[in-house]
Amino acid sequence: NSPIHVIGGGLAGSEAAWQIARRGLPVVLHEMRPVRGTDAHKTDSLAELVCSNSFRSDDAENNAVGVIHAEMRMAGSLIMKCADANQVPAGGALAVDREGFARAVTDAIEAEPLITIAREEVSGLPPAEWDQTIIATGPLTAPDLAEAIRAETGKDALAFFDAIAPIIHTDSIDMSVCWFQSRYDKVGPGGTGKDYINCPMDKDQYDAFIDALIAGDVTGFKEWEGTPYFDGCLPIEIMAERGRETLRHGPMKPMGLTNAHQPDIKPYAVVQLRQDNALGTLYNMVGFQTKLKYGAQAEIIRMIPGLENAEFARLGGLHRNTYLNSPLLLDGSLQLRSRPGLRFAGQITGCEGYVESAAMGLLAGRFAAAERNGELLAPPPPTTAFGALLNHITGGHILSDDEPGKRSFQPMNVNFGLFPPLDPGAIVRPEGGGRFRGKDKARAKKQALARRALTDFGTWLDQPGIRDAAE
Ligand code: FAD
Repeated sequence: NSPIHVIGGGLAGSEAAWQIARRGLPVVLHEMRPVRGTDAHKTDSLAELVCSNSFRSDDAENNAVGVIHAEMRMAGSLIMKCADANQVPAGGALAVDREGFARAVTDAIEAEPLITIAREEVSGLPPAEWDQTIIATGPLTAPDLAEAIRAETGKDALAFFDAIAPIIHTDSIDMSVCWFQSRYDKVGPGGTGKDYINCPMDKDQYDAFIDALIAGDVTGFKEWEGTPYFDGCLPIEIMAERGRETLRHGPMKPMGLTNAHQPDIKPYAVVQLRQDNALGTLYNMVGFQTKLKYGAQAEIIRMIPGLENAEFARLGGLHRNTYLNSPLLLDGSLQLRSRPGLRFAGQITGCEGYVESAAMGLLAGRFAAAERNGELLAPPPPTTAFGALLNHITGGHILSDDEPGKRSFQPMNVNFGLFPPLDPGAIVRPEGGGRFRGKDKARAKKQALARRALTDFGTWLDQPGIRDAAE
């Protein structure tokens, strides 16, 4: 039985290899680190998290990310198993000790007899004898392979840049100014309601900070000027340029937070930091991606009350993101239309985020394994988080007005906007009858979408051949 090859041992590739092995098939997982590094990875571990240590909301009743977490757990995801085993407190979010998490994934894959890890760069498309291959080389795909993909597809695989947030040593944060509190004191799994460090700002401090951001020296990016950012990952200086209040309504919003040192004075803005490692010695700045030059960046961040003496474990920066025009290139099983047997998974397909990438790795692994076993695997229905995301990547997209005939395709996190509308009557009425209004209506709708997703995902998993004894 010839092995299935998976190129890239990141979030998607590790999950794909695991899923194939769980179906009793041999896999070769090709990972170029440590032979060759990337601009963002720092270790040789599989599934290294390159920026935030958060898998975002774990709320499967109200949040689409929480729903995809739940679906992954139902489907026997290795990434979720290792994330659950390495949680650090983060309110309602699932955040992990990044080293412990990556070590757990690496150990599991190394211990799996059906998986062989080849520490090598794959610099071209797979040779003919690799009849089943998954490319999961991520946003930082090495240039030679990216070039080969571009040559094969004949279409532009877009490359652009993404910004990451700084990480600070906890003991350099002034806790006589800052305080521990989760927004609205929310208590998540393993949390206390005091999971974030908060830095308060008054109006003058906020104004001075915004002025400095706008005037700050940013890294030059001439060849990529004008390229789009993911909206969820906008650099703070770009947000500041969009409007003086933008940050105060975004990552610096003061709502749900009370300054423990001055409970009577409502902060005008608040900067939040989230625990980054199990020891609690590092905290990352939530939503503070930036492309400010290092010198300017440290100086401006030290204007934040409580961070005057901040010591940085890592400053923010800009990185490349490579992804395919998947709706044109891939079929519904993530297979390149022009080259059957070659699949893509993870962020290179145009999903965005650790969890989404791992989810598409899980699916690609299962599609490839089913094909090797001579089975046909129906994709999960679009009412599920997996199906909605798969549909975004491979399905129909709105034609753009200014380029008739071309589809507009932007990388996307999973969100309820990708789910098909509910059937009439799907929203449970409030107790005592009547209808939900306003925010209650929006919440009831999300809850109905989440319930439908998890029910339909369970039904999909229960088809013969999908769930197996290994789970
Ligand atoms: P990766 O996890 O990057 O894995 C790809 C693997 O392929 C790597 O191990 C790489 O070494 C290997 N590889 C590349 N080319 C080759 C080759 N030719 N041969 C062999 N191996 C190869 N997502 C979030 O959810 N939260 C964040 O805060 C966040 N911040 C980010 C910051 C940056 C700078 C970047 C670039 C991305 C960020 N992302 C974030 C997105 C995140 O990287 C992806 O969502 C996720 O890691 C993608 O998973 P993946 O498996 O597709 O790619």
